[in-house]
Amino acid sequence: MQQESVMQKKSFALVDYTTCDPKRCDPDEGLCPAASACPHKVMKQMDGPFEAPMVFQDMCMGCWDCMEACPLDAVQIRHIS
Ligand code: SF4
Ligand code: SF4
Repeated sequence: MQQESVMQKKSFALVDYTTCDPKRCDPDEGLCPAASACPHKVMKQMDGPFEAPMVFQDMCMGCWDCMEACPLDAVQIRHIS
């Protein structure tokens, strides 16, 4: 039987780079608490400490852990269908 073409709803994290400010989150080491909270290690500070994190959106599970860990509300979860 042919499967119905039901689109899976996908969620992923999105960083607002106008709000994100690692030195405010961690003045000493510049580490991103949201990236640290990601259980799937798909949010990373690719350019090192004091730099904004990026999200590997294809692998993001939309679990909200990063959003909840961000003290500046710079992470949003987007839903696409
Ligand atoms: S916790 Fe939020 S504001 Fe702080 S560096 Fe990470 S994404 Fe940016
Ligand atoms: S939504 Fe979950 S999987 Fe995606 S970046 Fe945030 S913590 Fe990681």
